[in-house]
Amino acid sequence: MTDPTLPRIVYLALGGTIASATSGDPRDCGAVPRIAARDLLAGVPAIAQVARVEARQLGMVPSPSLDFDDVQRALDAARDAVGSGASGVVLSQGTDTIEETAYLLDLAWDRPEPLVVTGAMRHASSPGADGPANLLAAVCVAAAPAAVGRGVLVVLDDEVHAAGTVRKTHTSSTGAFASPGSGPLGRVTEGSPVFHA
Ligand code: ASP
Repeated sequence: MTDPTLPRIVYLALGGTIASATSGDPRDCGAVPRIAARDLLAGVPAIAQVARVEARQLGMVPSPSLDFDDVQRALDAARDAVGSGASGVVLSQGTDTIEETAYLLDLAWDRPEPLVVTGAMRHASSPGADGPANLLAAVCVAAAPAAVGRGVLVVLDDEVHAAGTVRKTHTSSTGAFASPGSGPLGRVTEGSPVFHA
């Protein structure tokens, strides 16, 4: 049973590689977004040790298909979440447009609660899929008092980046995200976010 004293986090999901998997049919070689937010959560039991997380499915698309209405819906859902008492929000989506989405959300996010955007570089059917670790790290940051008041954050590969500085710098590396010139704001080390900037 989940500990009722743990922080409450709302998890919003839009699809992308983190939610993608192959169909299992050998004739079908492509992974597409198909894993529901609640199933992604259920795949990472360690999250229940960190926070009480409620999943909300907002979309199931590759991120180049996201438009301004999708971002507005995510913003509205994040505002509703903190308005109803959530300590933080995690949003997952495809990585191709994370830097644009996070930047846009950051311009509008006027709440102290952390809004953390994450994704994955390897789909869920691939060996070494990074989605589960990224989701756990994102929840750890969203639940951390040290993340309060820092605006929109982007968490992948255990690094915490400011939405205003983060860039996708590689097509396939699990360490694809960087903040050129300034570096990350912090790191998640064994479940503990440490901010050094
Ligand atoms: N093409 C995918 C997307 O942005 C890539 C990813 O999620 O990493 O939806």
